[in-house]
Amino acid sequence: MSNKTLAIIKPDAVRKNLVGQIITKITEAGFTIKGLRMIHLSTDSAKAFYEVHKERPFYNELVEFMTSGPCVPIALEKENAVADYRKLIGATDPAQAEEGTIRKLYADSKAENAVHGSDSDENAIIEIAHFFSRNDLV
Ligand code: GDP
Repeated sequence: MSNKTLAIIKPDAVRKNLVGQIITKITEAGFTIKGLRMIHLSTDSAKAFYEVHKERPFYNELVEFMTSGPCVPIALEKENAVADYRKLIGATDPAQAEEGTIRKLYADSKAENAVHGSDSDENAIIEIAHFFSRNDLV
C-alpha cells in the first residue's frame, strides 16, 4: 500500500474560485500536502499526462479542457492515499457521485469534473513526477 497520490484542481474549479474550498476538503479528510503549484498546462504537457487515454474518444476534448486555464496540481500523502482520495472526490460523473464528495459538490459534468485523482500507486508516482521534481516536495 502506497501513501502518495496526485490531486489536480482542474481549470473549471480554478475559474470558479474553488481552490480554497477544495483544499480545505482535502486537508480536513486527513491528507498532508507535500507539494503544490499553480500551472497553465501546455498542450504537449497535457497530452503527455493523459497519454493513457489517447485512444479514448474524448482525448482531444480532455486535452483542450485541461489547457483552458490554470490548474493546481497537489502531491498528497496519507495512509491508503489513492483509494481514500478517490472516495473523497467521488465518481467521474458528478451525477453519479455520492453526496458530500468533491465532484458532487463542485463539478458540473463528467468532462469538467473539478478534480483529478491518481488511479493506482504506480500512476501516483508517475503523475507526481510529471509536476514536481524531488526538490519541490517536502
Ligand atoms: P477519473 O479517473 O474519475 O478522472 O476518470 P477517467 O480516468 O475515466 O477519465 C479521465 C478524465 O477524462 C475525467 O476525469 C474527465 O475529466 C474526462 N472524461 C471522462 N469521460 C469523459 C467524456 O465522456 N467526455 C469528456 N469530454 N471527458 C471525459
